[in-house]
Amino acid sequence: MGNYTFPSKKNGNDEIEAVNYTEKDWIRVYKENIKWADRCLEEEADYWNRFHWKWYIGINKRQLQVLESKQPKRVFKSTTSIKEIKERIDIVQVIEHYVTLRGRNHQYYGYCPLHSDHSPSLSVDSEKQLWHCFGCGKGGDVIDFIKLVENIDIRGAMKKLGGMT
Ligand SMILES: [Zn+2]
Repeated sequence: MGNYTFPSKKNGNDEIEAVNYTEKDWIRVYKENIKWADRCLEEEADYWNRFHWKWYIGINKRQLQVLESKQPKRVFKSTTSIKEIKERIDIVQVIEHYVTLRGRNHQYYGYCPLHSDHSPSLSVDSEKQLWHCFGCGKGGDVIDFIKLVENIDIRGAMKKLGGMT
């Protein structure tokens, strides 16, 4: 169990927030977030403070290198059942069980249920089937969302998602 510090956007400055997450989790989540953030920057999304995110991604890339140097190459191995469930369900429909999402094309926004959100910080990408909160910094796939919002483990999340399909 690694206890790493990452920047938080909570107060709009460079406040550092400690989050309990395994190294494996960080590598996976940040790989996804970096890819997503890079793509959003390319698309020049207007909701986005680009200066802040260039800085944020820079920090994450350095942190990622540190983490990867400590870890074996295998990052995340999905079991068949995880893959099957993720193929069958739509992340937007699942998250809409919890919050109202608005959006266009494949990008949706809503109030994050994981922190006290005063503006729609939760971003959901139906194409990538990923979500990210710009307020609390959490993100991942649909299973990560269910785990956090329901405060259950992966087994419980799979069961819940299985019931939604
Ligand atoms: Zn949040």
